[in-house]
Amino acid sequence: GRPLGGKVALVTGGSRGIGAEIALRLAADGAAVALTYHRRADLAERVVERIGQDGGQGWALRADSADPEQVHTAVAGVAERWGGLDILVNNAGINVVGPFEELSVADVDRVLRTNVRGPFLVTQAAVPHLREGGRIICIGSCLAERVVIPGSTLYATSKAALSGLTRTLARELGPRGITANLVQFGPIDTDMNPADGETAAAQASLTALGSYGRASDVAATVAHLAGEGGRYITGAALTVDGGFAA
Ligand code: NDP
Repeated sequence: GRPLGGKVALVTGGSRGIGAEIALRLAADGAAVALTYHRRADLAERVVERIGQDGGQGWALRADSADPEQVHTAVAGVAERWGGLDILVNNAGINVVGPFEELSVADVDRVLRTNVRGPFLVTQAAVPHLREGGRIICIGSCLAERVVIPGSTLYATSKAALSGLTRTLARELGPRGITANLVQFGPIDTDMNPADGETAAAQASLTALGSYGRASDVAATVAHLAGEGGRYITGAALTVDGGFAA
């Protein structure tokens, strides 16, 4: 059988970029995959279609990670439809860049609501449904470990918070046989951070490999953690950044 056969996964922000690639990969590995999105219903449905074409089970749900009720309804709906939950990937996130002194309270709230409170609430909604052997995987950033350029105070703050969340979850849920890990990625070519963007060459040159990563690189790491290979990995912050932090 396939490595994730019989498992149920939920990926937040699965309509585009990294989340879409993770959803496709987990489905290819045999999991039934629910994905949330915020605005791009069309793209989310396209991902579900691709999962179906490969013989998998996919389901797209609109749920703004910043909205506790929408989050709760979506998570409960997935657990009800598929009888529980095994893998949660907290991927949905936004980036607001700018000089520290110019960031507004609205910017602060928007980023923390989506990048910090979102994963917190999604995980809270998911934990009651997670079965033994469950996996919680948070998508963080290498900027939480090493910041070499100005302008990322807000984003780096939000991604660093995931470390506290993930480590404590590992402690609280370990006795139930559930792991929690944080993966801190380097520059990955997506809408958020296009490999032909203004700062792309600079970002690539700061990695040891001298290049951007692909969303499929992220998906491969997540698939490893989600599968049997991740059995004994918990409370870890893995760095997958082409050597950005080296
Ligand atoms: P994209 O901007 O390309 O895609 C973002 C995804 O998240 C979309 O599916 C979007 O949905 C969804 N999303 C955004 N806000 C919300 C919300 N409030 N509620 C629900 N879903 C939401 O980003 P990436 O794929 O690049 O990034 C994904 C994650 O990876 C983020 O957490 C990001 O911080 C992290 N990351 C990215 C890196 C990079 O270089 N790209 C590096 C390290 C980490 P919709 O389509 O409906 O708008």
